[in-house]
Amino acid sequence: MPILTLIYLLASVSFIAGLKMLSHPATARRGNLIAAAGMFLAIVGTIFGYHDEAGRSLGNYGWIFGGILIGAVIGAVSAKKVKMTSMPEMVSLFNGMGGACAALISIVEFNHLAKAPHGDLGAELLIILAGLLIGTVSFTGSMVAWGKLNGRVKDFAFPGQHYINMIVLLAAVVMGGWMVTHSLVSSPLFYTILVLSVVYGLFFVLPIGGADMPVVISILNSFTGVAAACGGFLYDNKAMLTGGILVGAAGTLLTILMCKAMNRSLLNVLIGSFGGNKTGAAGTSAQGAYKEITLSDAAVVLAYANKVMIVPGYGLAVAQAQHVCHELEKLLTSRGVDVKYAIHPVAGRMPGHMNVLLAEADVAYENLLEMEQANEEFPTVDVVMVLGANDVVNPAAKNDKSSPIYGMPILDVELARNCIVNKRSMKPGYAGIENELFFSPRTSMLFGDAKKVLQDLVAEIKNT
Ligand code: NDP
Repeated sequence: MPILTLIYLLASVSFIAGLKMLSHPATARRGNLIAAAGMFLAIVGTIFGYHDEAGRSLGNYGWIFGGILIGAVIGAVSAKKVKMTSMPEMVSLFNGMGGACAALISIVEFNHLAKAPHGDLGAELLIILAGLLIGTVSFTGSMVAWGKLNGRVKDFAFPGQHYINMIVLLAAVVMGGWMVTHSLVSSPLFYTILVLSVVYGLFFVLPIGGADMPVVISILNSFTGVAAACGGFLYDNKAMLTGGILVGAAGTLLTILMCKAMNRSLLNVLIGSFGGNKTGAAGTSAQGAYKEITLSDAAVVLAYANKVMIVPGYGLAVAQAQHVCHELEKLLTSRGVDVKYAIHPVAGRMPGHMNVLLAEADVAYENLLEMEQANEEFPTVDVVMVLGANDVVNPAAKNDKSSPIYGMPILDVELARNCIVNKRSMKPGYAGIENELFFSPRTSMLFGDAKKVLQDLVAEIKNT
């Protein structure tokens, strides 16, 4: 077996093993390293081991290593500097770069084909055009998602946007189909498809708002995988093909899981129509007044409870309060309180955000309950401690048909005997809507930064 084929096989095995290990927090770090080592092997193997039919190697070493150096420095520095709460933005940005690479490969290969057309080009054109369309949509969509997550880009929608989206996509597919079936290497058609893909990518993500960005990020991730797999086909590069297929499949599975978690249909996501119009529902004001609880009362309620459920959310991540939260859990457990965490699948700002955050603070995995498990337990819970979570505990998702989060399964914290909500103010969460939970008779608000409040609670309970 040629050495390069062996290298690609090893790399592919490392991707699969790495991905498998990523499915559990205890092995995720090692899985990531194994897959990265496989990728390193595949890159080095391609640079030095690839030879074309005439026996020529890749050459262009200055360009290749220059690019690798610049990319590695930018990647390493930004990964080192990024705050945990900005991870989704970075994931979007890097994902967009993957899509752009796939689209650039298609442009370069199309130009090669245009210079030297040969025989039946249908299959080759199909792969080039698929890479162009999917890669470009992934690039522009990810850039918009990046802008939305960091607040630079606002929701934008106009009447009939669904239909325009569909027409734009259909036009690109029909033009591509025409080129493929007629083996037509037409630059005007090719670049029109590029422009249509840019427009679709923008229109697809721009109207999506509310609490639905996780689904979009995940679907764009799977697009990039498929686009990279097209590159693998084009170059007959098995490692690129396997890597792309794995990313595409994993992203698709995650998208389906997220759609289920948020009760959205995949078709809705693809047409780009859900979740916008935050403002409409923001006006639905909750009734009644809220009541506050003092720190010392909260400490007593927690210290004398039998069963406490902690609901972490985005605010806990912002405050970097995961370590002191674990301290509170240990303290309560040492006093005989049964303490668990209820994890909502889209709490925080990225899939698995709360699991990663709590794992960093050494919280035991068996204490983390998934949403369905937690919902079964809430009626037997004495105190729910909501820490910087808002949308994922908003009953409007169940009760208010006009709400942008209507239909999203939530944590049923209102079923517990008492609910203490810690946040800094009455401001809404990511979806921009009010939360009637805060006005429920069983709820008490404990205002303040999560880290400071938890530190004070720990000190107070120690004195109780
Ligand atoms: P939310 O964004 O709904 O609410 C977070 C709350 O935390 C805010 O209301 C804020 O209130 C409070 N907060 C902020 N800073 C602090 C602090 N320092 N101390 C205490 N509280 C603080 O978060 P959830 O986790 O409930 O929901 C996640 C939302 O993000 C969902 O809508 C989800 O769809 C969306 N999303 C999720 C992604 C994912 O993959 N997980 C990706 C992108 C979006 P205040 O300002 O008053 O303190």
